[in-house]
Amino acid sequence: MNQLPVLDIRLSFRRGGVHMDDHKVTAAMPIERFLPKEVVLPLSQHIGPEATAIVKRKDTVTRGMLIGAEETLGAPVHASVNGTVKSVIRRPHPTLTEASAIVIETNAEATDPQFEEDPEWRRLSQEEMLTRIAKAGIVGLGGASFPTHRKLRLPPGVRIDTLIINGAECEPYLTSDHRLMLERTEDLVKGACLIGRIVDARQIIIGIEDNKADAAAMLQKTIDDFSDTMPRPWVRVCKTRYPQGSEKQLVEALANRVIPSGKLPMHVGCLVQNVATAIACYRAIRFREPLMDRVVTVSGKGIRTPKNLLVPIGTLISDIVLHCGGMTDDACMVIAGGPMMGRALSRLDVPVIKGTGGLLFFTEDQIEHEMYGPCISCGRCLDVCPLGLEPNQISLYTEAGLALETLPFGTRDCFECGSCAYVCPAKRPLTQFIQIAKSALMRKTALGIAVRPGGPHG
Ligand code: SF4
Ligand code: SF4
Repeated sequence: MNQLPVLDIRLSFRRGGVHMDDHKVTAAMPIERFLPKEVVLPLSQHIGPEATAIVKRKDTVTRGMLIGAEETLGAPVHASVNGTVKSVIRRPHPTLTEASAIVIETNAEATDPQFEEDPEWRRLSQEEMLTRIAKAGIVGLGGASFPTHRKLRLPPGVRIDTLIINGAECEPYLTSDHRLMLERTEDLVKGACLIGRIVDARQIIIGIEDNKADAAAMLQKTIDDFSDTMPRPWVRVCKTRYPQGSEKQLVEALANRVIPSGKLPMHVGCLVQNVATAIACYRAIRFREPLMDRVVTVSGKGIRTPKNLLVPIGTLISDIVLHCGGMTDDACMVIAGGPMMGRALSRLDVPVIKGTGGLLFFTEDQIEHEMYGPCISCGRCLDVCPLGLEPNQISLYTEAGLALETLPFGTRDCFECGSCAYVCPAKRPLTQFIQIAKSALMRKTALGIAVRPGGPHG
């Protein structure tokens, strides 16, 4: 019996961060299933080469069937509904503008295939578990969309002692991970244990912000009731503070290790996986179940009926809007993801993809219409940057056409959390300036042109 309690000490990262109203109005709304009339499944939903379509128009497909074969370093795509292939065609994409996609008309009458349990699932080798995760098409569901089997396959010489399951969900509005922790608790704990076995972790920590105390208690109870999991996960509660859910901040808060510039959690012996990813890994290993669905928080003042929805991957956002009662008359902005790190969508005829955890609808009065002003050197952006970067300088140099001179201010380290822009009294679009500077640096590096590492002062 596990005696480790949910710790009452609220952990957090040391530097910067912001406290904001979390707007988690859907936190108490159970996950509802929605089956659309058609799905659009892009062949590229991950970091890596796009999959190759292996079905054609008029083919009958069943849920879970392989329809897009994985290229080297990519991820396969599976049918998320039973139905008939309408077309394989270029379609609008939520992050790539346009991509090849398989369009399937749903047969709502067909019975979903059952994924039988493999009675030997507890005895699978690490390699066998990795193969199942790869075949299931699982990618990082926290938004990174990096193929999970590649993240779990550690480079030679790298040892992981601490697996961190990321249940922080620190972005305002989003509650899909919170609901998963409450409603799929056992799957999550088992998934965490299996991933721990794959990477030989000595300890597994499930990190949760203190605005989700019910999920922390539910997880702890589930772990206490388990008799066969080694090593047992440990639930640790963090302060609600943005960006607590970013990998570097979570590792610092939970494992007390600082990840150096340009390095990953594995370089300090840690590996971070999102809660939805852990659940998907468990289903893939035990039942050989591919990744077919996504839990999506639909929220914001601009949608009439906010919900947490379980939808087949490929469900069009326009269908979700109709299912949620439509947008309000003053809705004027749609974001895929959270308000801080999500991406504004220019159209609604794009699908939910593997990495989509939220759809937020904002109204006129929530949008900043004022022009931004000059930097007044107040230093607030420096105070809140969790990495100690200098976003004010990056913005000033980029504005002056000197984006290539911004390296010393930390352009490459910035993970675009948006905390600096959130507090800037001059409303400067600091994240956008940083994105411009990063692109300029990337283009120059690709062209082989030397970038002065010393920068303007070097
Ligand atoms: S967006 Fe970048 S520079 Fe701004 S606070 Fe976040 S990490 Fe720091
Ligand atoms: S918060 Fe805005 S105004 Fe203040 S120093 Fe940073 S960029 Fe300048």
